[in-house]
Amino acid sequence: MASLCARISLHSSRRKTLYSCIRLANTFTDPKELATGLEKREILNDEAGKDPDPYGLAVKRGPGTKDKPNLIPSAFDSRIIGCLCDDESTHINWMWLHKGTASRCGCGYWFKLVEKPAL
Ligand SMILES: [Zn+2]
Repeated sequence: MASLCARISLHSSRRKTLYSCIRLANTFTDPKELATGLEKREILNDEAGKDPDPYGLAVKRGPGTKDKPNLIPSAFDSRIIGCLCDDESTHINWMWLHKGTASRCGCGYWFKLVEKPAL
């Protein structure tokens, strides 16, 4: 069992400083025990070997033409996305995507929302 020693200073009203060494033995809690809701489902899916990024939080753009738009998964009827229009860009171009219609970014790439069931 790994243990750490933490030095803690205690100040009393008489200005005495006391130092104490406390042994800490694996006091960090497993994040799975603290997580709830979507975060917990993501952790469980990750442990089960499922896709760690089911909603494409970081999607590489494909051809992005009007006929073959970049497909963005969502469990909702709309989703906000950010396009880093070129590698030298210093800002993100944010826009809403709505179910059923493809949207074009200012850089010319097209994006379309596709339905993906909730986790
Ligand atoms: Zn763009």
